[in-house]
Amino acid sequence: MKELFKLPANVVITKIKNGEFTAEEYISVIIERINKTDIKINSFITKNFENALEKSKKIDQKIQKGEKTGNLAGIPIGIKDNINVKGLKNTCASKMLSDYVSPFNATVVERIEKQDGIIIGKLNMDEFGMGSTSEFSAYGPVRNPWNIDYVAGGSSGGSAAAVSSLQIPISLGSDTGGSIRCPSSFCSVVGLKPTYGSISRNGLVSYSNSLEQIGPIARTIFDIVPILNTISGEDINDNTTSDLRNDCIIKSDEQLQISRLKVGILSDLIQSSDSQIVSGIQQKIDLLEKHHCYLENIKISMIDFAVASYYIIATAEASSNLSRFDNIRYGYTLNPEGYEWTTYFSKARSLFGDEVKRRILLGSYVLSAGYFGKYYAKAQLVRSLIRNEFENLFKKFDVILLPTMPVLPFKLGEKISNPVDIYNLDLFTIIANLTGLPAISIPAGFSKEGFPFGVQLITNAFDEQKLVDFAVLFERTSNYGECDPGL
Ligand code: GLN
Repeated sequence: MKELFKLPANVVITKIKNGEFTAEEYISVIIERINKTDIKINSFITKNFENALEKSKKIDQKIQKGEKTGNLAGIPIGIKDNINVKGLKNTCASKMLSDYVSPFNATVVERIEKQDGIIIGKLNMDEFGMGSTSEFSAYGPVRNPWNIDYVAGGSSGGSAAAVSSLQIPISLGSDTGGSIRCPSSFCSVVGLKPTYGSISRNGLVSYSNSLEQIGPIARTIFDIVPILNTISGEDINDNTTSDLRNDCIIKSDEQLQISRLKVGILSDLIQSSDSQIVSGIQQKIDLLEKHHCYLENIKISMIDFAVASYYIIATAEASSNLSRFDNIRYGYTLNPEGYEWTTYFSKARSLFGDEVKRRILLGSYVLSAGYFGKYYAKAQLVRSLIRNEFENLFKKFDVILLPTMPVLPFKLGEKISNPVDIYNLDLFTIIANLTGLPAISIPAGFSKEGFPFGVQLITNAFDEQKLVDFAVLFERTSNYGECDPGL
């Protein structure tokens, strides 16, 4: 009973249905595991244990009565703290929202609960999703389960660390410029950023609406598929959702048709990465060659402008989205009496952290009348040129391969005072957000010091099935064992 937390969700679902153990027993083990390990990792901001136990009992009753249960029956799922869960705090890891309790469920949460998934708590992150290390949280940094003196990646660091440290089998993150994939690479888990418009953003606190998507994180692709299928699909509450939907499957060895698929390799980006990542990625390329994929080195000509364009668009949208946190509509309670308006307003806004303030300043600047054309309009032009390049690439290739991150996890605090260094780390992940394309980070190995890294695959819009197929191949052939950092 003790080691149940090690099991992947797909195994747990069957075992609960077959009566090998109850949902309540399983959730109790998970709660104990979280209590034991979160002192070291700090992945949870809010724990929802009482409700989770209550829910598990109801699922057990359904099973006992022979009633039909949902596809995620009994599975504890952690939710990034920028996705609303009714009755729970939704802090976005910001002091600004430290006492904000959600009055409604995000569409993804509603869909999970409909399938009998259990919301186990809200997960730590960079404030409002702004960052790549999860150090910019008002609740303290998330620590990497593989070495707790190192960053977990961000901004969905809590979502990746909770899964990697065997606290929970599945979590949701959000990915505006790599926030699902970066921490997945740093923590050795699978993270998927779905096609823009394939998953509802209703109930996700907006950072940069034209770039971001909610997506799943798990230790195995077998656990990504059921949650992805559950949360995908059109939503009347988000009119950017499409009526095309993902219904992915895990194929058997015989069904997997990897051979003859055409893989474009972003070789320059691979070569610019840490040398241990270069050799790990090369092994994955060799594997694809062995499976008779067609491989070709490719380039994206506009790549040098990608980071600048991303940070102009993301901060522009952020500065506008964050204007609602004014302590009138949302925010902590500050009594306006005795203040002049400007003093009051700046006092109310002062609860944002430094990184958030930096982005509001940058975003307001690039949108200001005199500079709009010089920065924002140009960034949008670069974005559409990159999108055109990818459209052409997908006339020839099925997937594009590159590392998820150019670097291995680094020490907490090491880069925190140099924001531009951190921004530049996003180069490999932002491409999928600027183009709206789906991308996955799959564990690709460990450095000799024991730090994980991921390989990233990008495919055409609504073609997530191909990402799943490649992930299945990589998983079935990987030789570095199951994810267990030994906490
Ligand atoms: N690191 C990127 C940023 O800070 C991406 C964040 C995200 O995807 N939410 O904007």
